Amino acid sequence: MDEQQTTENHRCVCLDPSGNVTLAFPDKKGSTSIQFVVSSPVLALASSYFRVLFESNFKEGLETKAGTFPRIELEEDDSEAMEAILSLLHFRNGTEYTTMKPEKLAAIALHCNKYQCTNALRPWLHLWLDSEKVPKAYDIGFLLSAAFFFEDAKHFRRISALAIRHVDIVTASLWQEQDVTALMATELHSMIIQSVRLLLDRLQGIMHSGEEMLEGSLRGYEMAGRVCDQCGRKHPETAKKCHPCGTSEIHKVYCTSQSRVAEYFILLRQNNLWPSVTRFRDSAAATLAAQFGTAASACRHQCSAGSECPLRTMLDRVSREMNRVLDNIQGVELKPDLVPTYLASEV
Ligand SMILES: [Zn+2]
Ligand SMILES: [Zn+2]
Repeated sequence: MDEQQTTENHRCVCLDPSGNVTLAFPDKKGSTSIQFVVSSPVLALASSYFRVLFESNFKEGLETKAGTFPRIELEEDDSEAMEAILSLLHFRNGTEYTTMKPEKLAAIALHCNKYQCTNALRPWLHLWLDSEKVPKAYDIGFLLSAAFFFEDAKHFRRISALAIRHVDIVTASLWQEQDVTALMATELHSMIIQSVRLLLDRLQGIMHSGEEMLEGSLRGYEMAGRVCDQCGRKHPETAKKCHPCGTSEIHKVYCTSQSRVAEYFILLRQNNLWPSVTRFRDSAAATLAAQFGTAASACRHQCSAGSECPLRTMLDRVSREMNRVLDNIQGVELKPDLVPTYLASEV
C-alpha cells in the first residue's frame, strides 16, 4: 500500500507497510473518515488499552489474532490527535511534531491518557512542555491540561505557577467551558483560581501599604522650582513672576508627607492602577506588577533628598516586594488521587 491514499470519502495513511490492523476515525467535520494502517504488536507494546483490545476475545481481538486485517472504528476520538500519537508510536513524521500548538497538545494528552500510552511518548513531553517563554494566557490552560492528562507532576507544578502569575480570573474561569480544559479535575481548577485571587489580593495589599510607608516619614525636603499660588503652574527657581497670571505670588514648594501621598495616588491613577478594585479583579498579577514597576521608574519627582526621598524609596520597595512575591509563587501539586484515572477506567 502507498504511504497515503486519499479518495472523496476517506484518507488512508499507512504507518506500517506490513501492518495488520486498520484504525478508522471520523474527521472533525464527520463527513469523511481517516484510516491508519498500524501494527498491532507495536500498539500492544506502547499501550495497555490496545494490548487488551488485541488480545481479547472480542471481535477485534479474535480478528487480529486470526490475521484477517480487521478495520476498527474509533468514533469518539479526535483524528488529528490520534494521527500524531499513532505516527510517533510508529516512528513516523517525527520532525512534524517537534513543536506543538498548546490546544493540539492538550488533545494529544487526553488521548494518551485514554489509550494509556503516555510512557511510550514520555521523551516527547519535555520537548512539548519545557519552554522558557511565557505562553499567552489563553494557551496556559491547554498546557496545564496537557500536563494533567500526561500525569506529569513536575510540569503541572511549573505550569500552574505560570498560570497563577500570568492568567487573569476571567480567562481562568473560561477553562471550565472549553472541551479539553473542562475535563481537568475541578479541585485543581478551583485551587488555581483561588491562588490567583490570593495573589492579586496580596499585590493590592502591597500597593496600598505604600501609603502607610509614606505616612511614616514626616520630614520635608525642598523641591526645585517655584509654583504660582493662583494657577499652580511650575516655574524655574529664578522666576520672580507668573506671567500668565501677572502675579508675583510664586513660592517654593516642599516635598512633605502629605504631598508625597498625593503624588503617589496621582502616579497610580496615571498608570491605570487606581482605583485598584477593578484593576486587581480583571488583570493578571504579573501584568500589574510590571505596570507598577514601569510607573515607579517613570516617576519624575525630584527633591533635595534625591534618591533618599521617601517617595522614591517607597516606590522601589513596593516594586521589589511585588516581584519577590511573584517569584516565590509555588505551583499546585498534582496529587495521586487527582490524576485522571477516571478516563482510563472507561476502557
Ligand atoms: Zn499663575
Ligand atoms: Zn521628595
